[in-house]
Amino acid sequence: MDECSVCGRNESVGTALIEGARVTVCARCVGYGKNVDLYAPAQSGRPAFVRAKPVELVPAEDCGQRITRAREAKGWTRRELAERVPVHESEIKSFEDGRVKPLPEKAKKLEYILGAKLLVPAEDNSPAKPILPKPASGEATLEDYLKRKR
Ligand SMILES: [Zn+2]
Repeated sequence: MDECSVCGRNESVGTALIEGARVTVCARCVGYGKNVDLYAPAQSGRPAFVRAKPVELVPAEDCGQRITRAREAKGWTRRELAERVPVHESEIKSFEDGRVKPLPEKAKKLEYILGAKLLVPAEDNSPAKPILPKPASGEATLEDYLKRKR
């Protein structure tokens, strides 16, 4: 059975939305959350919702700036970089100007040539999600935090 994300007891009964994040909760902490989703009683083994989604890599928002920085760090002109990829120099320019984002395949090649990170997991490009404090002995738990807020 999964650990309750609020108090840390090994008795979670389902998941609930707390502070905008879906976390596991035990019967005692279920009341803190909204949108409660209890495990089906007959279900055995790991609940289906823990199945990990494949991480999709996309060019970073500031991909163009990253290319410029990495290229300049190597002391290359746009033409020199273009010849190494190889693509047309104007294509490098449009990437760096931020007018065009490289396709993931091309970004991967640029990453390799420049030794720079250009692709990021798709969700990193979305607004930051709140990170729940992990319950640990001696430290304040999410339960403490929620109690204090009341
Ligand atoms: Zn709990």
